Amino acid sequence: MSDLNKNYNKLLKTIKTTQPNADLNLVELAFEFAKTAHQGQKRMSGEEYIFHPLATAQKLAEMKLSAPIIIAGLLHDVPEDTDYTLEDIKKNFGEEVAGLVEGITKLGTIKYRGIERYIENLRKMFFAMAADLRVIIIKFADRLHNLKTLYALPRNKQIRIASEVLEIYAPIANRLGMYEMKGLLEEESFKYLYPKEYNWLKNLVEEQSKQKEKYLNKIIKFVKQELAAENIKSLEVKGRIKQLYSLYKKLLKHNKDINRVYDFIAIRIIVKDIPTCYAVLGILHKKLKPLKGRIKDYIAQPKPNGYSSLHTTVFTPEGEIIEIQIRTREMEEEAEYGIAAHWYYDEKGSLKPGRKAKWIEELTKWQKELSENEKILEKLKIDVFQDRIFVFTPNGDVIDMANGATPVDFAYYVHTDVGNKCVGALINNHIASLDTALKSGDVVEILTDKNRKYPNSDWLKFVKTSLAKNKIKSALGKRTLIDKFLKK
Ligand code: MN
Repeated sequence: MSDLNKNYNKLLKTIKTTQPNADLNLVELAFEFAKTAHQGQKRMSGEEYIFHPLATAQKLAEMKLSAPIIIAGLLHDVPEDTDYTLEDIKKNFGEEVAGLVEGITKLGTIKYRGIERYIENLRKMFFAMAADLRVIIIKFADRLHNLKTLYALPRNKQIRIASEVLEIYAPIANRLGMYEMKGLLEEESFKYLYPKEYNWLKNLVEEQSKQKEKYLNKIIKFVKQELAAENIKSLEVKGRIKQLYSLYKKLLKHNKDINRVYDFIAIRIIVKDIPTCYAVLGILHKKLKPLKGRIKDYIAQPKPNGYSSLHTTVFTPEGEIIEIQIRTREMEEEAEYGIAAHWYYDEKGSLKPGRKAKWIEELTKWQKELSENEKILEKLKIDVFQDRIFVFTPNGDVIDMANGATPVDFAYYVHTDVGNKCVGALINNHIASLDTALKSGDVVEILTDKNRKYPNSDWLKFVKTSLAKNKIKSALGKRTLIDKFLKK
């Protein structure tokens, strides 16, 4: 079997185990469609292009996401890089999939022009997508595979892409509570940005893990016995090793002394409900002396991104220090997949309701923290969000305006002169009339005539923003004055 077929069969198998009711025929169709569309294209790594969307879809399937998201993962580079269009995707796979692919394509429109401006643009765009966070999740999976094949790119591109991930993508994943994704993104970019430190830590951790494995197994056994003696059934007791990048950050705080990082290795106990979590904590504290100030109740007080769990650090019977995390299965899934856990399918195949709102609230809070300006803050409230659109300049800058804004509004946002001298507009490279309502993601280019001096008073009938209205009025006011003067 070819590698491609092997990978594809793996995808089918993953989907079958996580969602038995998924329409595999549509997945098959999407795979064939993407394969045909990318025919003949190669990645920098020398691989056939199709391996990339396939890997993206695989990651999404492993996150137990629903079929439309996986299908969109397979198709995510089609409109951007092939002769097939979004329209073709809509015809074959329907509105939902096409909408997701469109979102990914729009995110790709942002061009890199200096890190500060880029971060700002990307943040805005991420929030524009807040209505459909699935797009962001696909983007993460896409970026993760790009990182895995980063070795094929020149050094300067490696650094650029890896720092982008470390500075933008990983913090967003963290904020969305997607710890697994955050960890993977950080791990891969850390490798390229700090190769020396990465290798040093990798060796250190391997060495330490070997040493600690024995006592880790011992303490796991001990915990299981103690719980059994109290008639408590644990669903799972396992060890986990801290990921390299977060370990690195912690080490920097502690003079690179790994013995001072207490959660380097932790054990995690999964139980059926919250009362059992507290019961387990009590039982363990009776037997293992807790370290002062290290008991954390993230169940009573979850972290801002929703993370819930009990943490404690204890002395083992051998006098070793170890962190213990106690949580329910639901908390475990939330901790790994964060917001992505909200697109899990239950047995009936419908979305888990009601939990999305909490996340939207969190995003709003975050946006508040980012913004210092009270007025901007108000505008960015999620409920108002639906009244905003985000459009691009040909350079890839993002401009946000009121819903229904037209190319004339856009022109005045860019510059007063551009507004006054505006004679036409290109929307996504097509000539459009000046009163067209713009849509989020449109790339707008304003055509100007340098000899034109004044705006058209008819524009006042359709412009949506007060900015444009005021500027048009002010320019026309000047004209009236000059006309009067000339007549005298
Ligand atoms: Mn891609």
